Amino acid sequence: MLVKNEGVANMVVDNKIKAVHDDDLFDLLTSLNILDDIREKRCFCYFCDKNISLDNLSSIFPVGGEIKFCCDDDDCVLEVMGINIGGRRSNAAV
Ligand SMILES: [Zn+2]
Repeated sequence: MLVKNEGVANMVVDNKIKAVHDDDLFDLLTSLNILDDIREKRCFCYFCDKNISLDNLSSIFPVGGEIKFCCDDDDCVLEVMGINIGGRRSNAAV
């Protein structure tokens, strides 16, 4: 299943989910100017409103030009894959 593995997060770009390794994640978050926001707990899961930290961040994806976040709850991960793959639920094996 395309969920966060150890040290890997997902990023959705152009409707494709990319795995982002921790090393790259910092660069990515820095380039998007959101690393500080996450560290200062100003980011929330788009689906369940859980506070996003570097530990529970599983996905980053754009909605209407804004960067949104997804925590690592299975339900939320399924949601982010569902909305980004043409509304089709992933049928990846768990
Ligand atoms: Zn969530």
